[in-house]
Amino acid sequence: MSGPLAYDLSFEDWVAVFAGWNEPRYRARQVWSQLYRRLAPTPASMMDLPAGVRQKLAESFDFSGLRPHIERTSSDGTTEKTLFRLADQKEVETVLMRYDQRRTVCISTQAGCGMGCPFCATGQMGFLRHLTSGEIVAQVLHFARRLAQSGDRLTNIVVMGMGEPFHNYDATLAALDRLHDADGFGFAERRSTISTVGLVPMIDRFTSERRQINLAVSLHAATDELRSKMIPINQRYPLPVLREACRNYTETSRRRLTLEWALIEDVNDGQDQAEALVAWARGMLCHVNVIPLNPTRGYAGQPSTQHRVGAFREVLERGGLSCTVRVRRGLDIQAGCGQLATENQAALAV
Ligand code: SAH
Ligand code: SF4
Repeated sequence: MSGPLAYDLSFEDWVAVFAGWNEPRYRARQVWSQLYRRLAPTPASMMDLPAGVRQKLAESFDFSGLRPHIERTSSDGTTEKTLFRLADQKEVETVLMRYDQRRTVCISTQAGCGMGCPFCATGQMGFLRHLTSGEIVAQVLHFARRLAQSGDRLTNIVVMGMGEPFHNYDATLAALDRLHDADGFGFAERRSTISTVGLVPMIDRFTSERRQINLAVSLHAATDELRSKMIPINQRYPLPVLREACRNYTETSRRRLTLEWALIEDVNDGQDQAEALVAWARGMLCHVNVIPLNPTRGYAGQPSTQHRVGAFREVLERGGLSCTVRVRRGLDIQAGCGQLATENQAALAV
């Protein structure tokens, strides 16, 4: 069905819809509960609503919004990736990772990305458009429904898929607020994490709004010369300015900031960068996530060898920085950021 995407509506929007239909106000609560608690996929299964209302809902709103176009599961079964097609045929990716007791969904906030980081498959696509809050919410609901079928549930949401969430701040935060609503999906804020490339004014805004959502910053280099090459927006918000915003965040929120670092052989995996990182992060409540680069079609860089990963980590630990080396998951299904979408584009172009 065409019409507005149902997941774009806030609770207040539903109140207004039912007021306009001369229906009692409690209908809004019923729909909200059906969509976000019972995870009803369409109005047809909202059995506490009268048939007439269900039909009107089905005729007036789009309850799908995202159509799974390609679905893949990694050979070890831990990672599932879905390439969704949006109403305008643009494509975004969502990844579900199952490890230990965790069920983590990694969601996209834009089709493509305008930040142009050369090592990133999404950056190589360029910016196509922002997703709406409903398109962001629908990615989470898709996997929440899937898990519910086997009596399982999501434990973590990470905003680390395609796009720069702080370039699409309003829709991203509206989506998370909708998912965190205690009367609806009821997801705990502290189980969600937003990863940003480092848009300083938006980090400041996020800090001032005082949510409990975790923040991760993609650092990848600790000298301005190198970081500006890897992350062009560093020219606008260089490392000293970024550091100020990060410190303000950790001091105001008292939450630990995550710093992300994709290790690229002979680019950012040397002693000098590790030492510069230790100096940059000194006195900050933070943790470094190191992950060997996922090679992409449009970038010649390669992941660091295990030996160099170990040496890098040692410098951080000696400098008093806590650090986790992440395992690259879902490599066989192009589960890296933007990789399935670019692969699909390339396949279409042939
Ligand atoms: N735009 C946001 C969030 C999406 S990218 C950001 O940049 O933080 C999520 C993470 O994946 C970021 O840390 C990003 O730098 C990293 N990433 C992108 N391409 C990668 C690659 N090829 N290998 C490893 N990590 C990559
Ligand atoms: Fe965009 Fe993040 Fe990729 Fe940079 S790393 S191009 S900000 S998605």
